[in-house]
Amino acid sequence: MSEAARPGRARNTTRARPEASSGTRRNSRTVSSVCSSARPSGGPPAAPVACATTEDPGAPRAPSVAGAAVHRREAPLRPNGGAAIRLAHVRKHYPGAAQAAVGDLSLDVPEGEVVVLVGPSGCGKTTVLKMVNRLVEPTAGEIHVLGEDVRSVAAPVLRRRIGYVIQQIGLFPHRTVEANVATVPRLLGWDRRRIRDRVAELVELVGLDPALLQRYPSELSGGQQQRVGVARALAADPPILLMDEPYSAVDPIVRARLQDELLALQRRLHKTIVLVTHDVDEAIKLGDRVAILNVGGVLAQYAPPAELLRAPADDFVAAFLGSERGLKLLSLVTGGQVASIDGPVVDGDVTPGEAAAVMRRFGVDWVGVRAGGRLVGWVADRDLDGRRRVADAPAQPFNAALRPDTTLREALDVLINSRTRLVLANERLDLVDDDHRYLGMLTVDQIAEGLR
Ligand code: ADP
Ligand code: MG
Repeated sequence: MSEAARPGRARNTTRARPEASSGTRRNSRTVSSVCSSARPSGGPPAAPVACATTEDPGAPRAPSVAGAAVHRREAPLRPNGGAAIRLAHVRKHYPGAAQAAVGDLSLDVPEGEVVVLVGPSGCGKTTVLKMVNRLVEPTAGEIHVLGEDVRSVAAPVLRRRIGYVIQQIGLFPHRTVEANVATVPRLLGWDRRRIRDRVAELVELVGLDPALLQRYPSELSGGQQQRVGVARALAADPPILLMDEPYSAVDPIVRARLQDELLALQRRLHKTIVLVTHDVDEAIKLGDRVAILNVGGVLAQYAPPAELLRAPADDFVAAFLGSERGLKLLSLVTGGQVASIDGPVVDGDVTPGEAAAVMRRFGVDWVGVRAGGRLVGWVADRDLDGRRRVADAPAQPFNAALRPDTTLREALDVLINSRTRLVLANERLDLVDDDHRYLGMLTVDQIAEGLR
């Protein structure tokens, strides 16, 4: 999926450049920070944005600035079309069970997205996945995969379109890694050379050491086994991937790395992925959309993570999302999604008197200096004495910069550590020539507004 199609996901984009992050050069008088311009809803991502806050020891507090309109990039679900998987009033009542595992579930999985099903143990998540690839037949309702009713497609044909990473990984213990990965291509009767090439490609894709190919699953770490499971599921290059609790068997550090790898993989492969987990933080991190299920396969809410965090549908969802919803949201919203305002910034050719008026208006005793659309730095009020133009005074550089896709969490961190409580937005920072194109400014108020 394209970056543009994955709104609201800060994780999707490159993080702040380490050499320019808020953590660097803290000892300097200025510290730069985050943020960016507003961008139309659903529009393409803005150009890389760099931002800066001054941290002038003498600078007074910045004023509060009324919140501007917040642009949210999450598109509503398309009512028709675009769904790679569609469940319509699906029910599964296992024979002899007291209650239906899934009562009446309707859900569209948009093509090219990661949809996470999350809910308590026994709520029917695995049953849903198994109904999609016909390992379990629904008692009622319809399931469409890539536009076709699954009942009209022979199960082996259907499963060729759907890679499945089963719960507990489930590698064949008596087969080598290579044979495990080659399972589906062999079933499909590919020739040996083609299988060998594909296995080599997959091993590279999932980040496995080719030296592991001749080992058996028991000779691998949990993380390595998980990568083999993903490679096996992707072997025939299915457009759809179902993953059932893929990281439950690995420790938290490996889990975080595998999650990051999945997101990176998805940026390359653009699959439609349905991932099941009971870990809500994993759901928030990985899902373009998250379906929160309650016992009986009841869909409590289905929305992009930021929307869930902003507006949980009911107490069950709120409880499931846990505490610190606002803090979790800070990690999902980027500076680029929050409308910025004009700050205390002037063109270099204005007089000190004009600059002083701007400073007064913003309640600060420094002013940003712009030249040709670039933010060249900032000048302290006291340094303007006796100058003809602002540009004649020595400008201090904004000495670090973050990118437009920097999260509000990082922005806020920088802001908290700056005296001015202002975050300036540049369109672009080229570390070579310091090309800052100034776009605007964020304040704490606007960051808060961005969470609403
Ligand atoms: P989850 O994956 O969310 O933990 P499952 O889909 O595995 O939930 O199970 C949902 C419910 O269906 C549970 O109550 C479970 O015990 C029951 N169940 C699952 N598989 C079967 C089966 N093959 N036969 C009977 N009941 C089952
Ligand atoms: Mg399960």
